Amino acid sequence: SATSSHSSDKVAGAPDIDDLAARARAVIPSGTSRSTLYVPPAVPMARSGRSAWLTDESGSRVLDFNNNYTSLIHGHHFEPIQRAIAEALDEGTSFGLPTRREVALAEHLRDRTGHEQWRFSNSGTEAVMQAIRCARAVTGRDLIVRFEGSYHGTSDPVTDSDRPGITCAEHETVMVLPQGSLAALQTVFGDRGDDVAAVLIDLMPNRAGLEPADPEFINAVRQLTTRHGSLMIVDEVITFRLALNGLGPSYGIAPDLATFGKVIGGGLPVGALAGRTDIMSAFDAKTGPLVAWGGTFSANPLTMAAGLAAVQAYDQPAIDDLNSRGNQLRHCLSDAGVKVNGRGSLMRIMEKVDVSDLWWALYRRGVFAGTNALLSLSTAMTHEDLNLAADAIVDAVQAVRS
Ligand code: PLP
Repeated sequence: SATSSHSSDKVAGAPDIDDLAARARAVIPSGTSRSTLYVPPAVPMARSGRSAWLTDESGSRVLDFNNNYTSLIHGHHFEPIQRAIAEALDEGTSFGLPTRREVALAEHLRDRTGHEQWRFSNSGTEAVMQAIRCARAVTGRDLIVRFEGSYHGTSDPVTDSDRPGITCAEHETVMVLPQGSLAALQTVFGDRGDDVAAVLIDLMPNRAGLEPADPEFINAVRQLTTRHGSLMIVDEVITFRLALNGLGPSYGIAPDLATFGKVIGGGLPVGALAGRTDIMSAFDAKTGPLVAWGGTFSANPLTMAAGLAAVQAYDQPAIDDLNSRGNQLRHCLSDAGVKVNGRGSLMRIMEKVDVSDLWWALYRRGVFAGTNALLSLSTAMTHEDLNLAADAIVDAVQAVRS
C-alpha cells in the first residue's frame, strides 16, 4: 500500500506546522487564497514537488493526483519545462511588449487545435469572462445560457446568484439550465432564441459528476446556436488534456469560441481564448468594436515558455499513453467496487461519503486528490506509482464507508 511511502519524517528546518497554520489563518481568511481547497480541519501546506510526488510542510510525501487542479500534466520539476523557464528568466520576467514566445505558443496551439486566433490571460476565469464579453459584443445581445454544475471560474456571469456580491442585474442576463437538458434548451431557444448571445458548455463538467456530455445534446447546442445566430462557447480549461485538440472535436463539432487554461501554461498562471478570426477580431484594434481586455501580466514570457515546453512534450503518443493508464486505473478501481466516473487521465470518485472524510482518508494513505475527489494523472506517474495509488484509494474508500 502507499501508506509505507507516506512517511512523516520531519524536514530539517521545517516550520512548526501548527504555528504556520495559525499564522496563515490570522493573515489570510480561511488560511488560504486557494478558495477551493478548504479541507477542514486544516489544509496541509505544500513545501516542494518532484515528479509525481509532493512533500508537505510536515514532511509527508504524497502522490500528487491533484496536480494543481489538473494543470501539471508532467507533474513537478519536469526537465524541459524547468529549462524553458530558466532560459526565459535569463532574458527577463515581463515586458510591456509582445514576445516571440507568445507567438510560438499561439502558433503551436493553432496548428494543433485548428482555432485560428488566440489571446492569452492569467487564468481560465479571465478567458471565460472575455469569451462572454466577446460573444455579447459580436452578437449585440446580452443573454448567456449556461448549465447547473458546470464550473467556469468565478467571474460574475458564471457565479451562482445565491453567492454574496453577485448583483441581480447580472443574473437577468444569464440563464442557468439543468445540466444537459435538451428540453430546457429548446424551450429557451423557442421563447427567446434571438436574444441569446452564447451558450457556454463544458463537455465533461467536474462538479456535475465528471460525466462526459451526451453527443446528441452537444449537437443540438451547435444546431440551435447556429440557427439563431448565437455563439457556442466550449470551455476546454480542464478537458484539453484529454485529446490533442481538446474534447470538442471528438464530438464532431466546431465551437465559435473556446477557452483554455491549466495544462497550456506548463504550471504557471494561464488562460486563453481562441476562435475564428472573424469573431476574435473583436479584440483587434483595427477591425473590431474593440472589446476591453487588459492584463499587465498576460502572455508573460515565463508562462509562454513553460506552456510551449509542456504542450510540445504532450504529443499524441504521450496523450494516448496517459489516457490508457487513466482508463486502467479507473477499471481497476471499478473492479474493486469503487464508484468512479471520468475518461482517460481524468476521474472522480463518486462514492456517497463525506467528501472531507474521503479527502483525508486518501491523503493519509499517500494520495493527494482535488476537492470533490477529482483525480488527474501526470506523465510523471510510473506504473509503480499507479499501483500504489490503486491500493490506497480502495483502502481509503473502504475505510470511509465503514
Ligand atoms: N473553466 C473550467 C472548466 C475550469 O475547470 C476552471 C478551473 O478549474 C476554470 C474555468 C477557471 O480557471 P482558473 O482557475 O484558471 O481561473
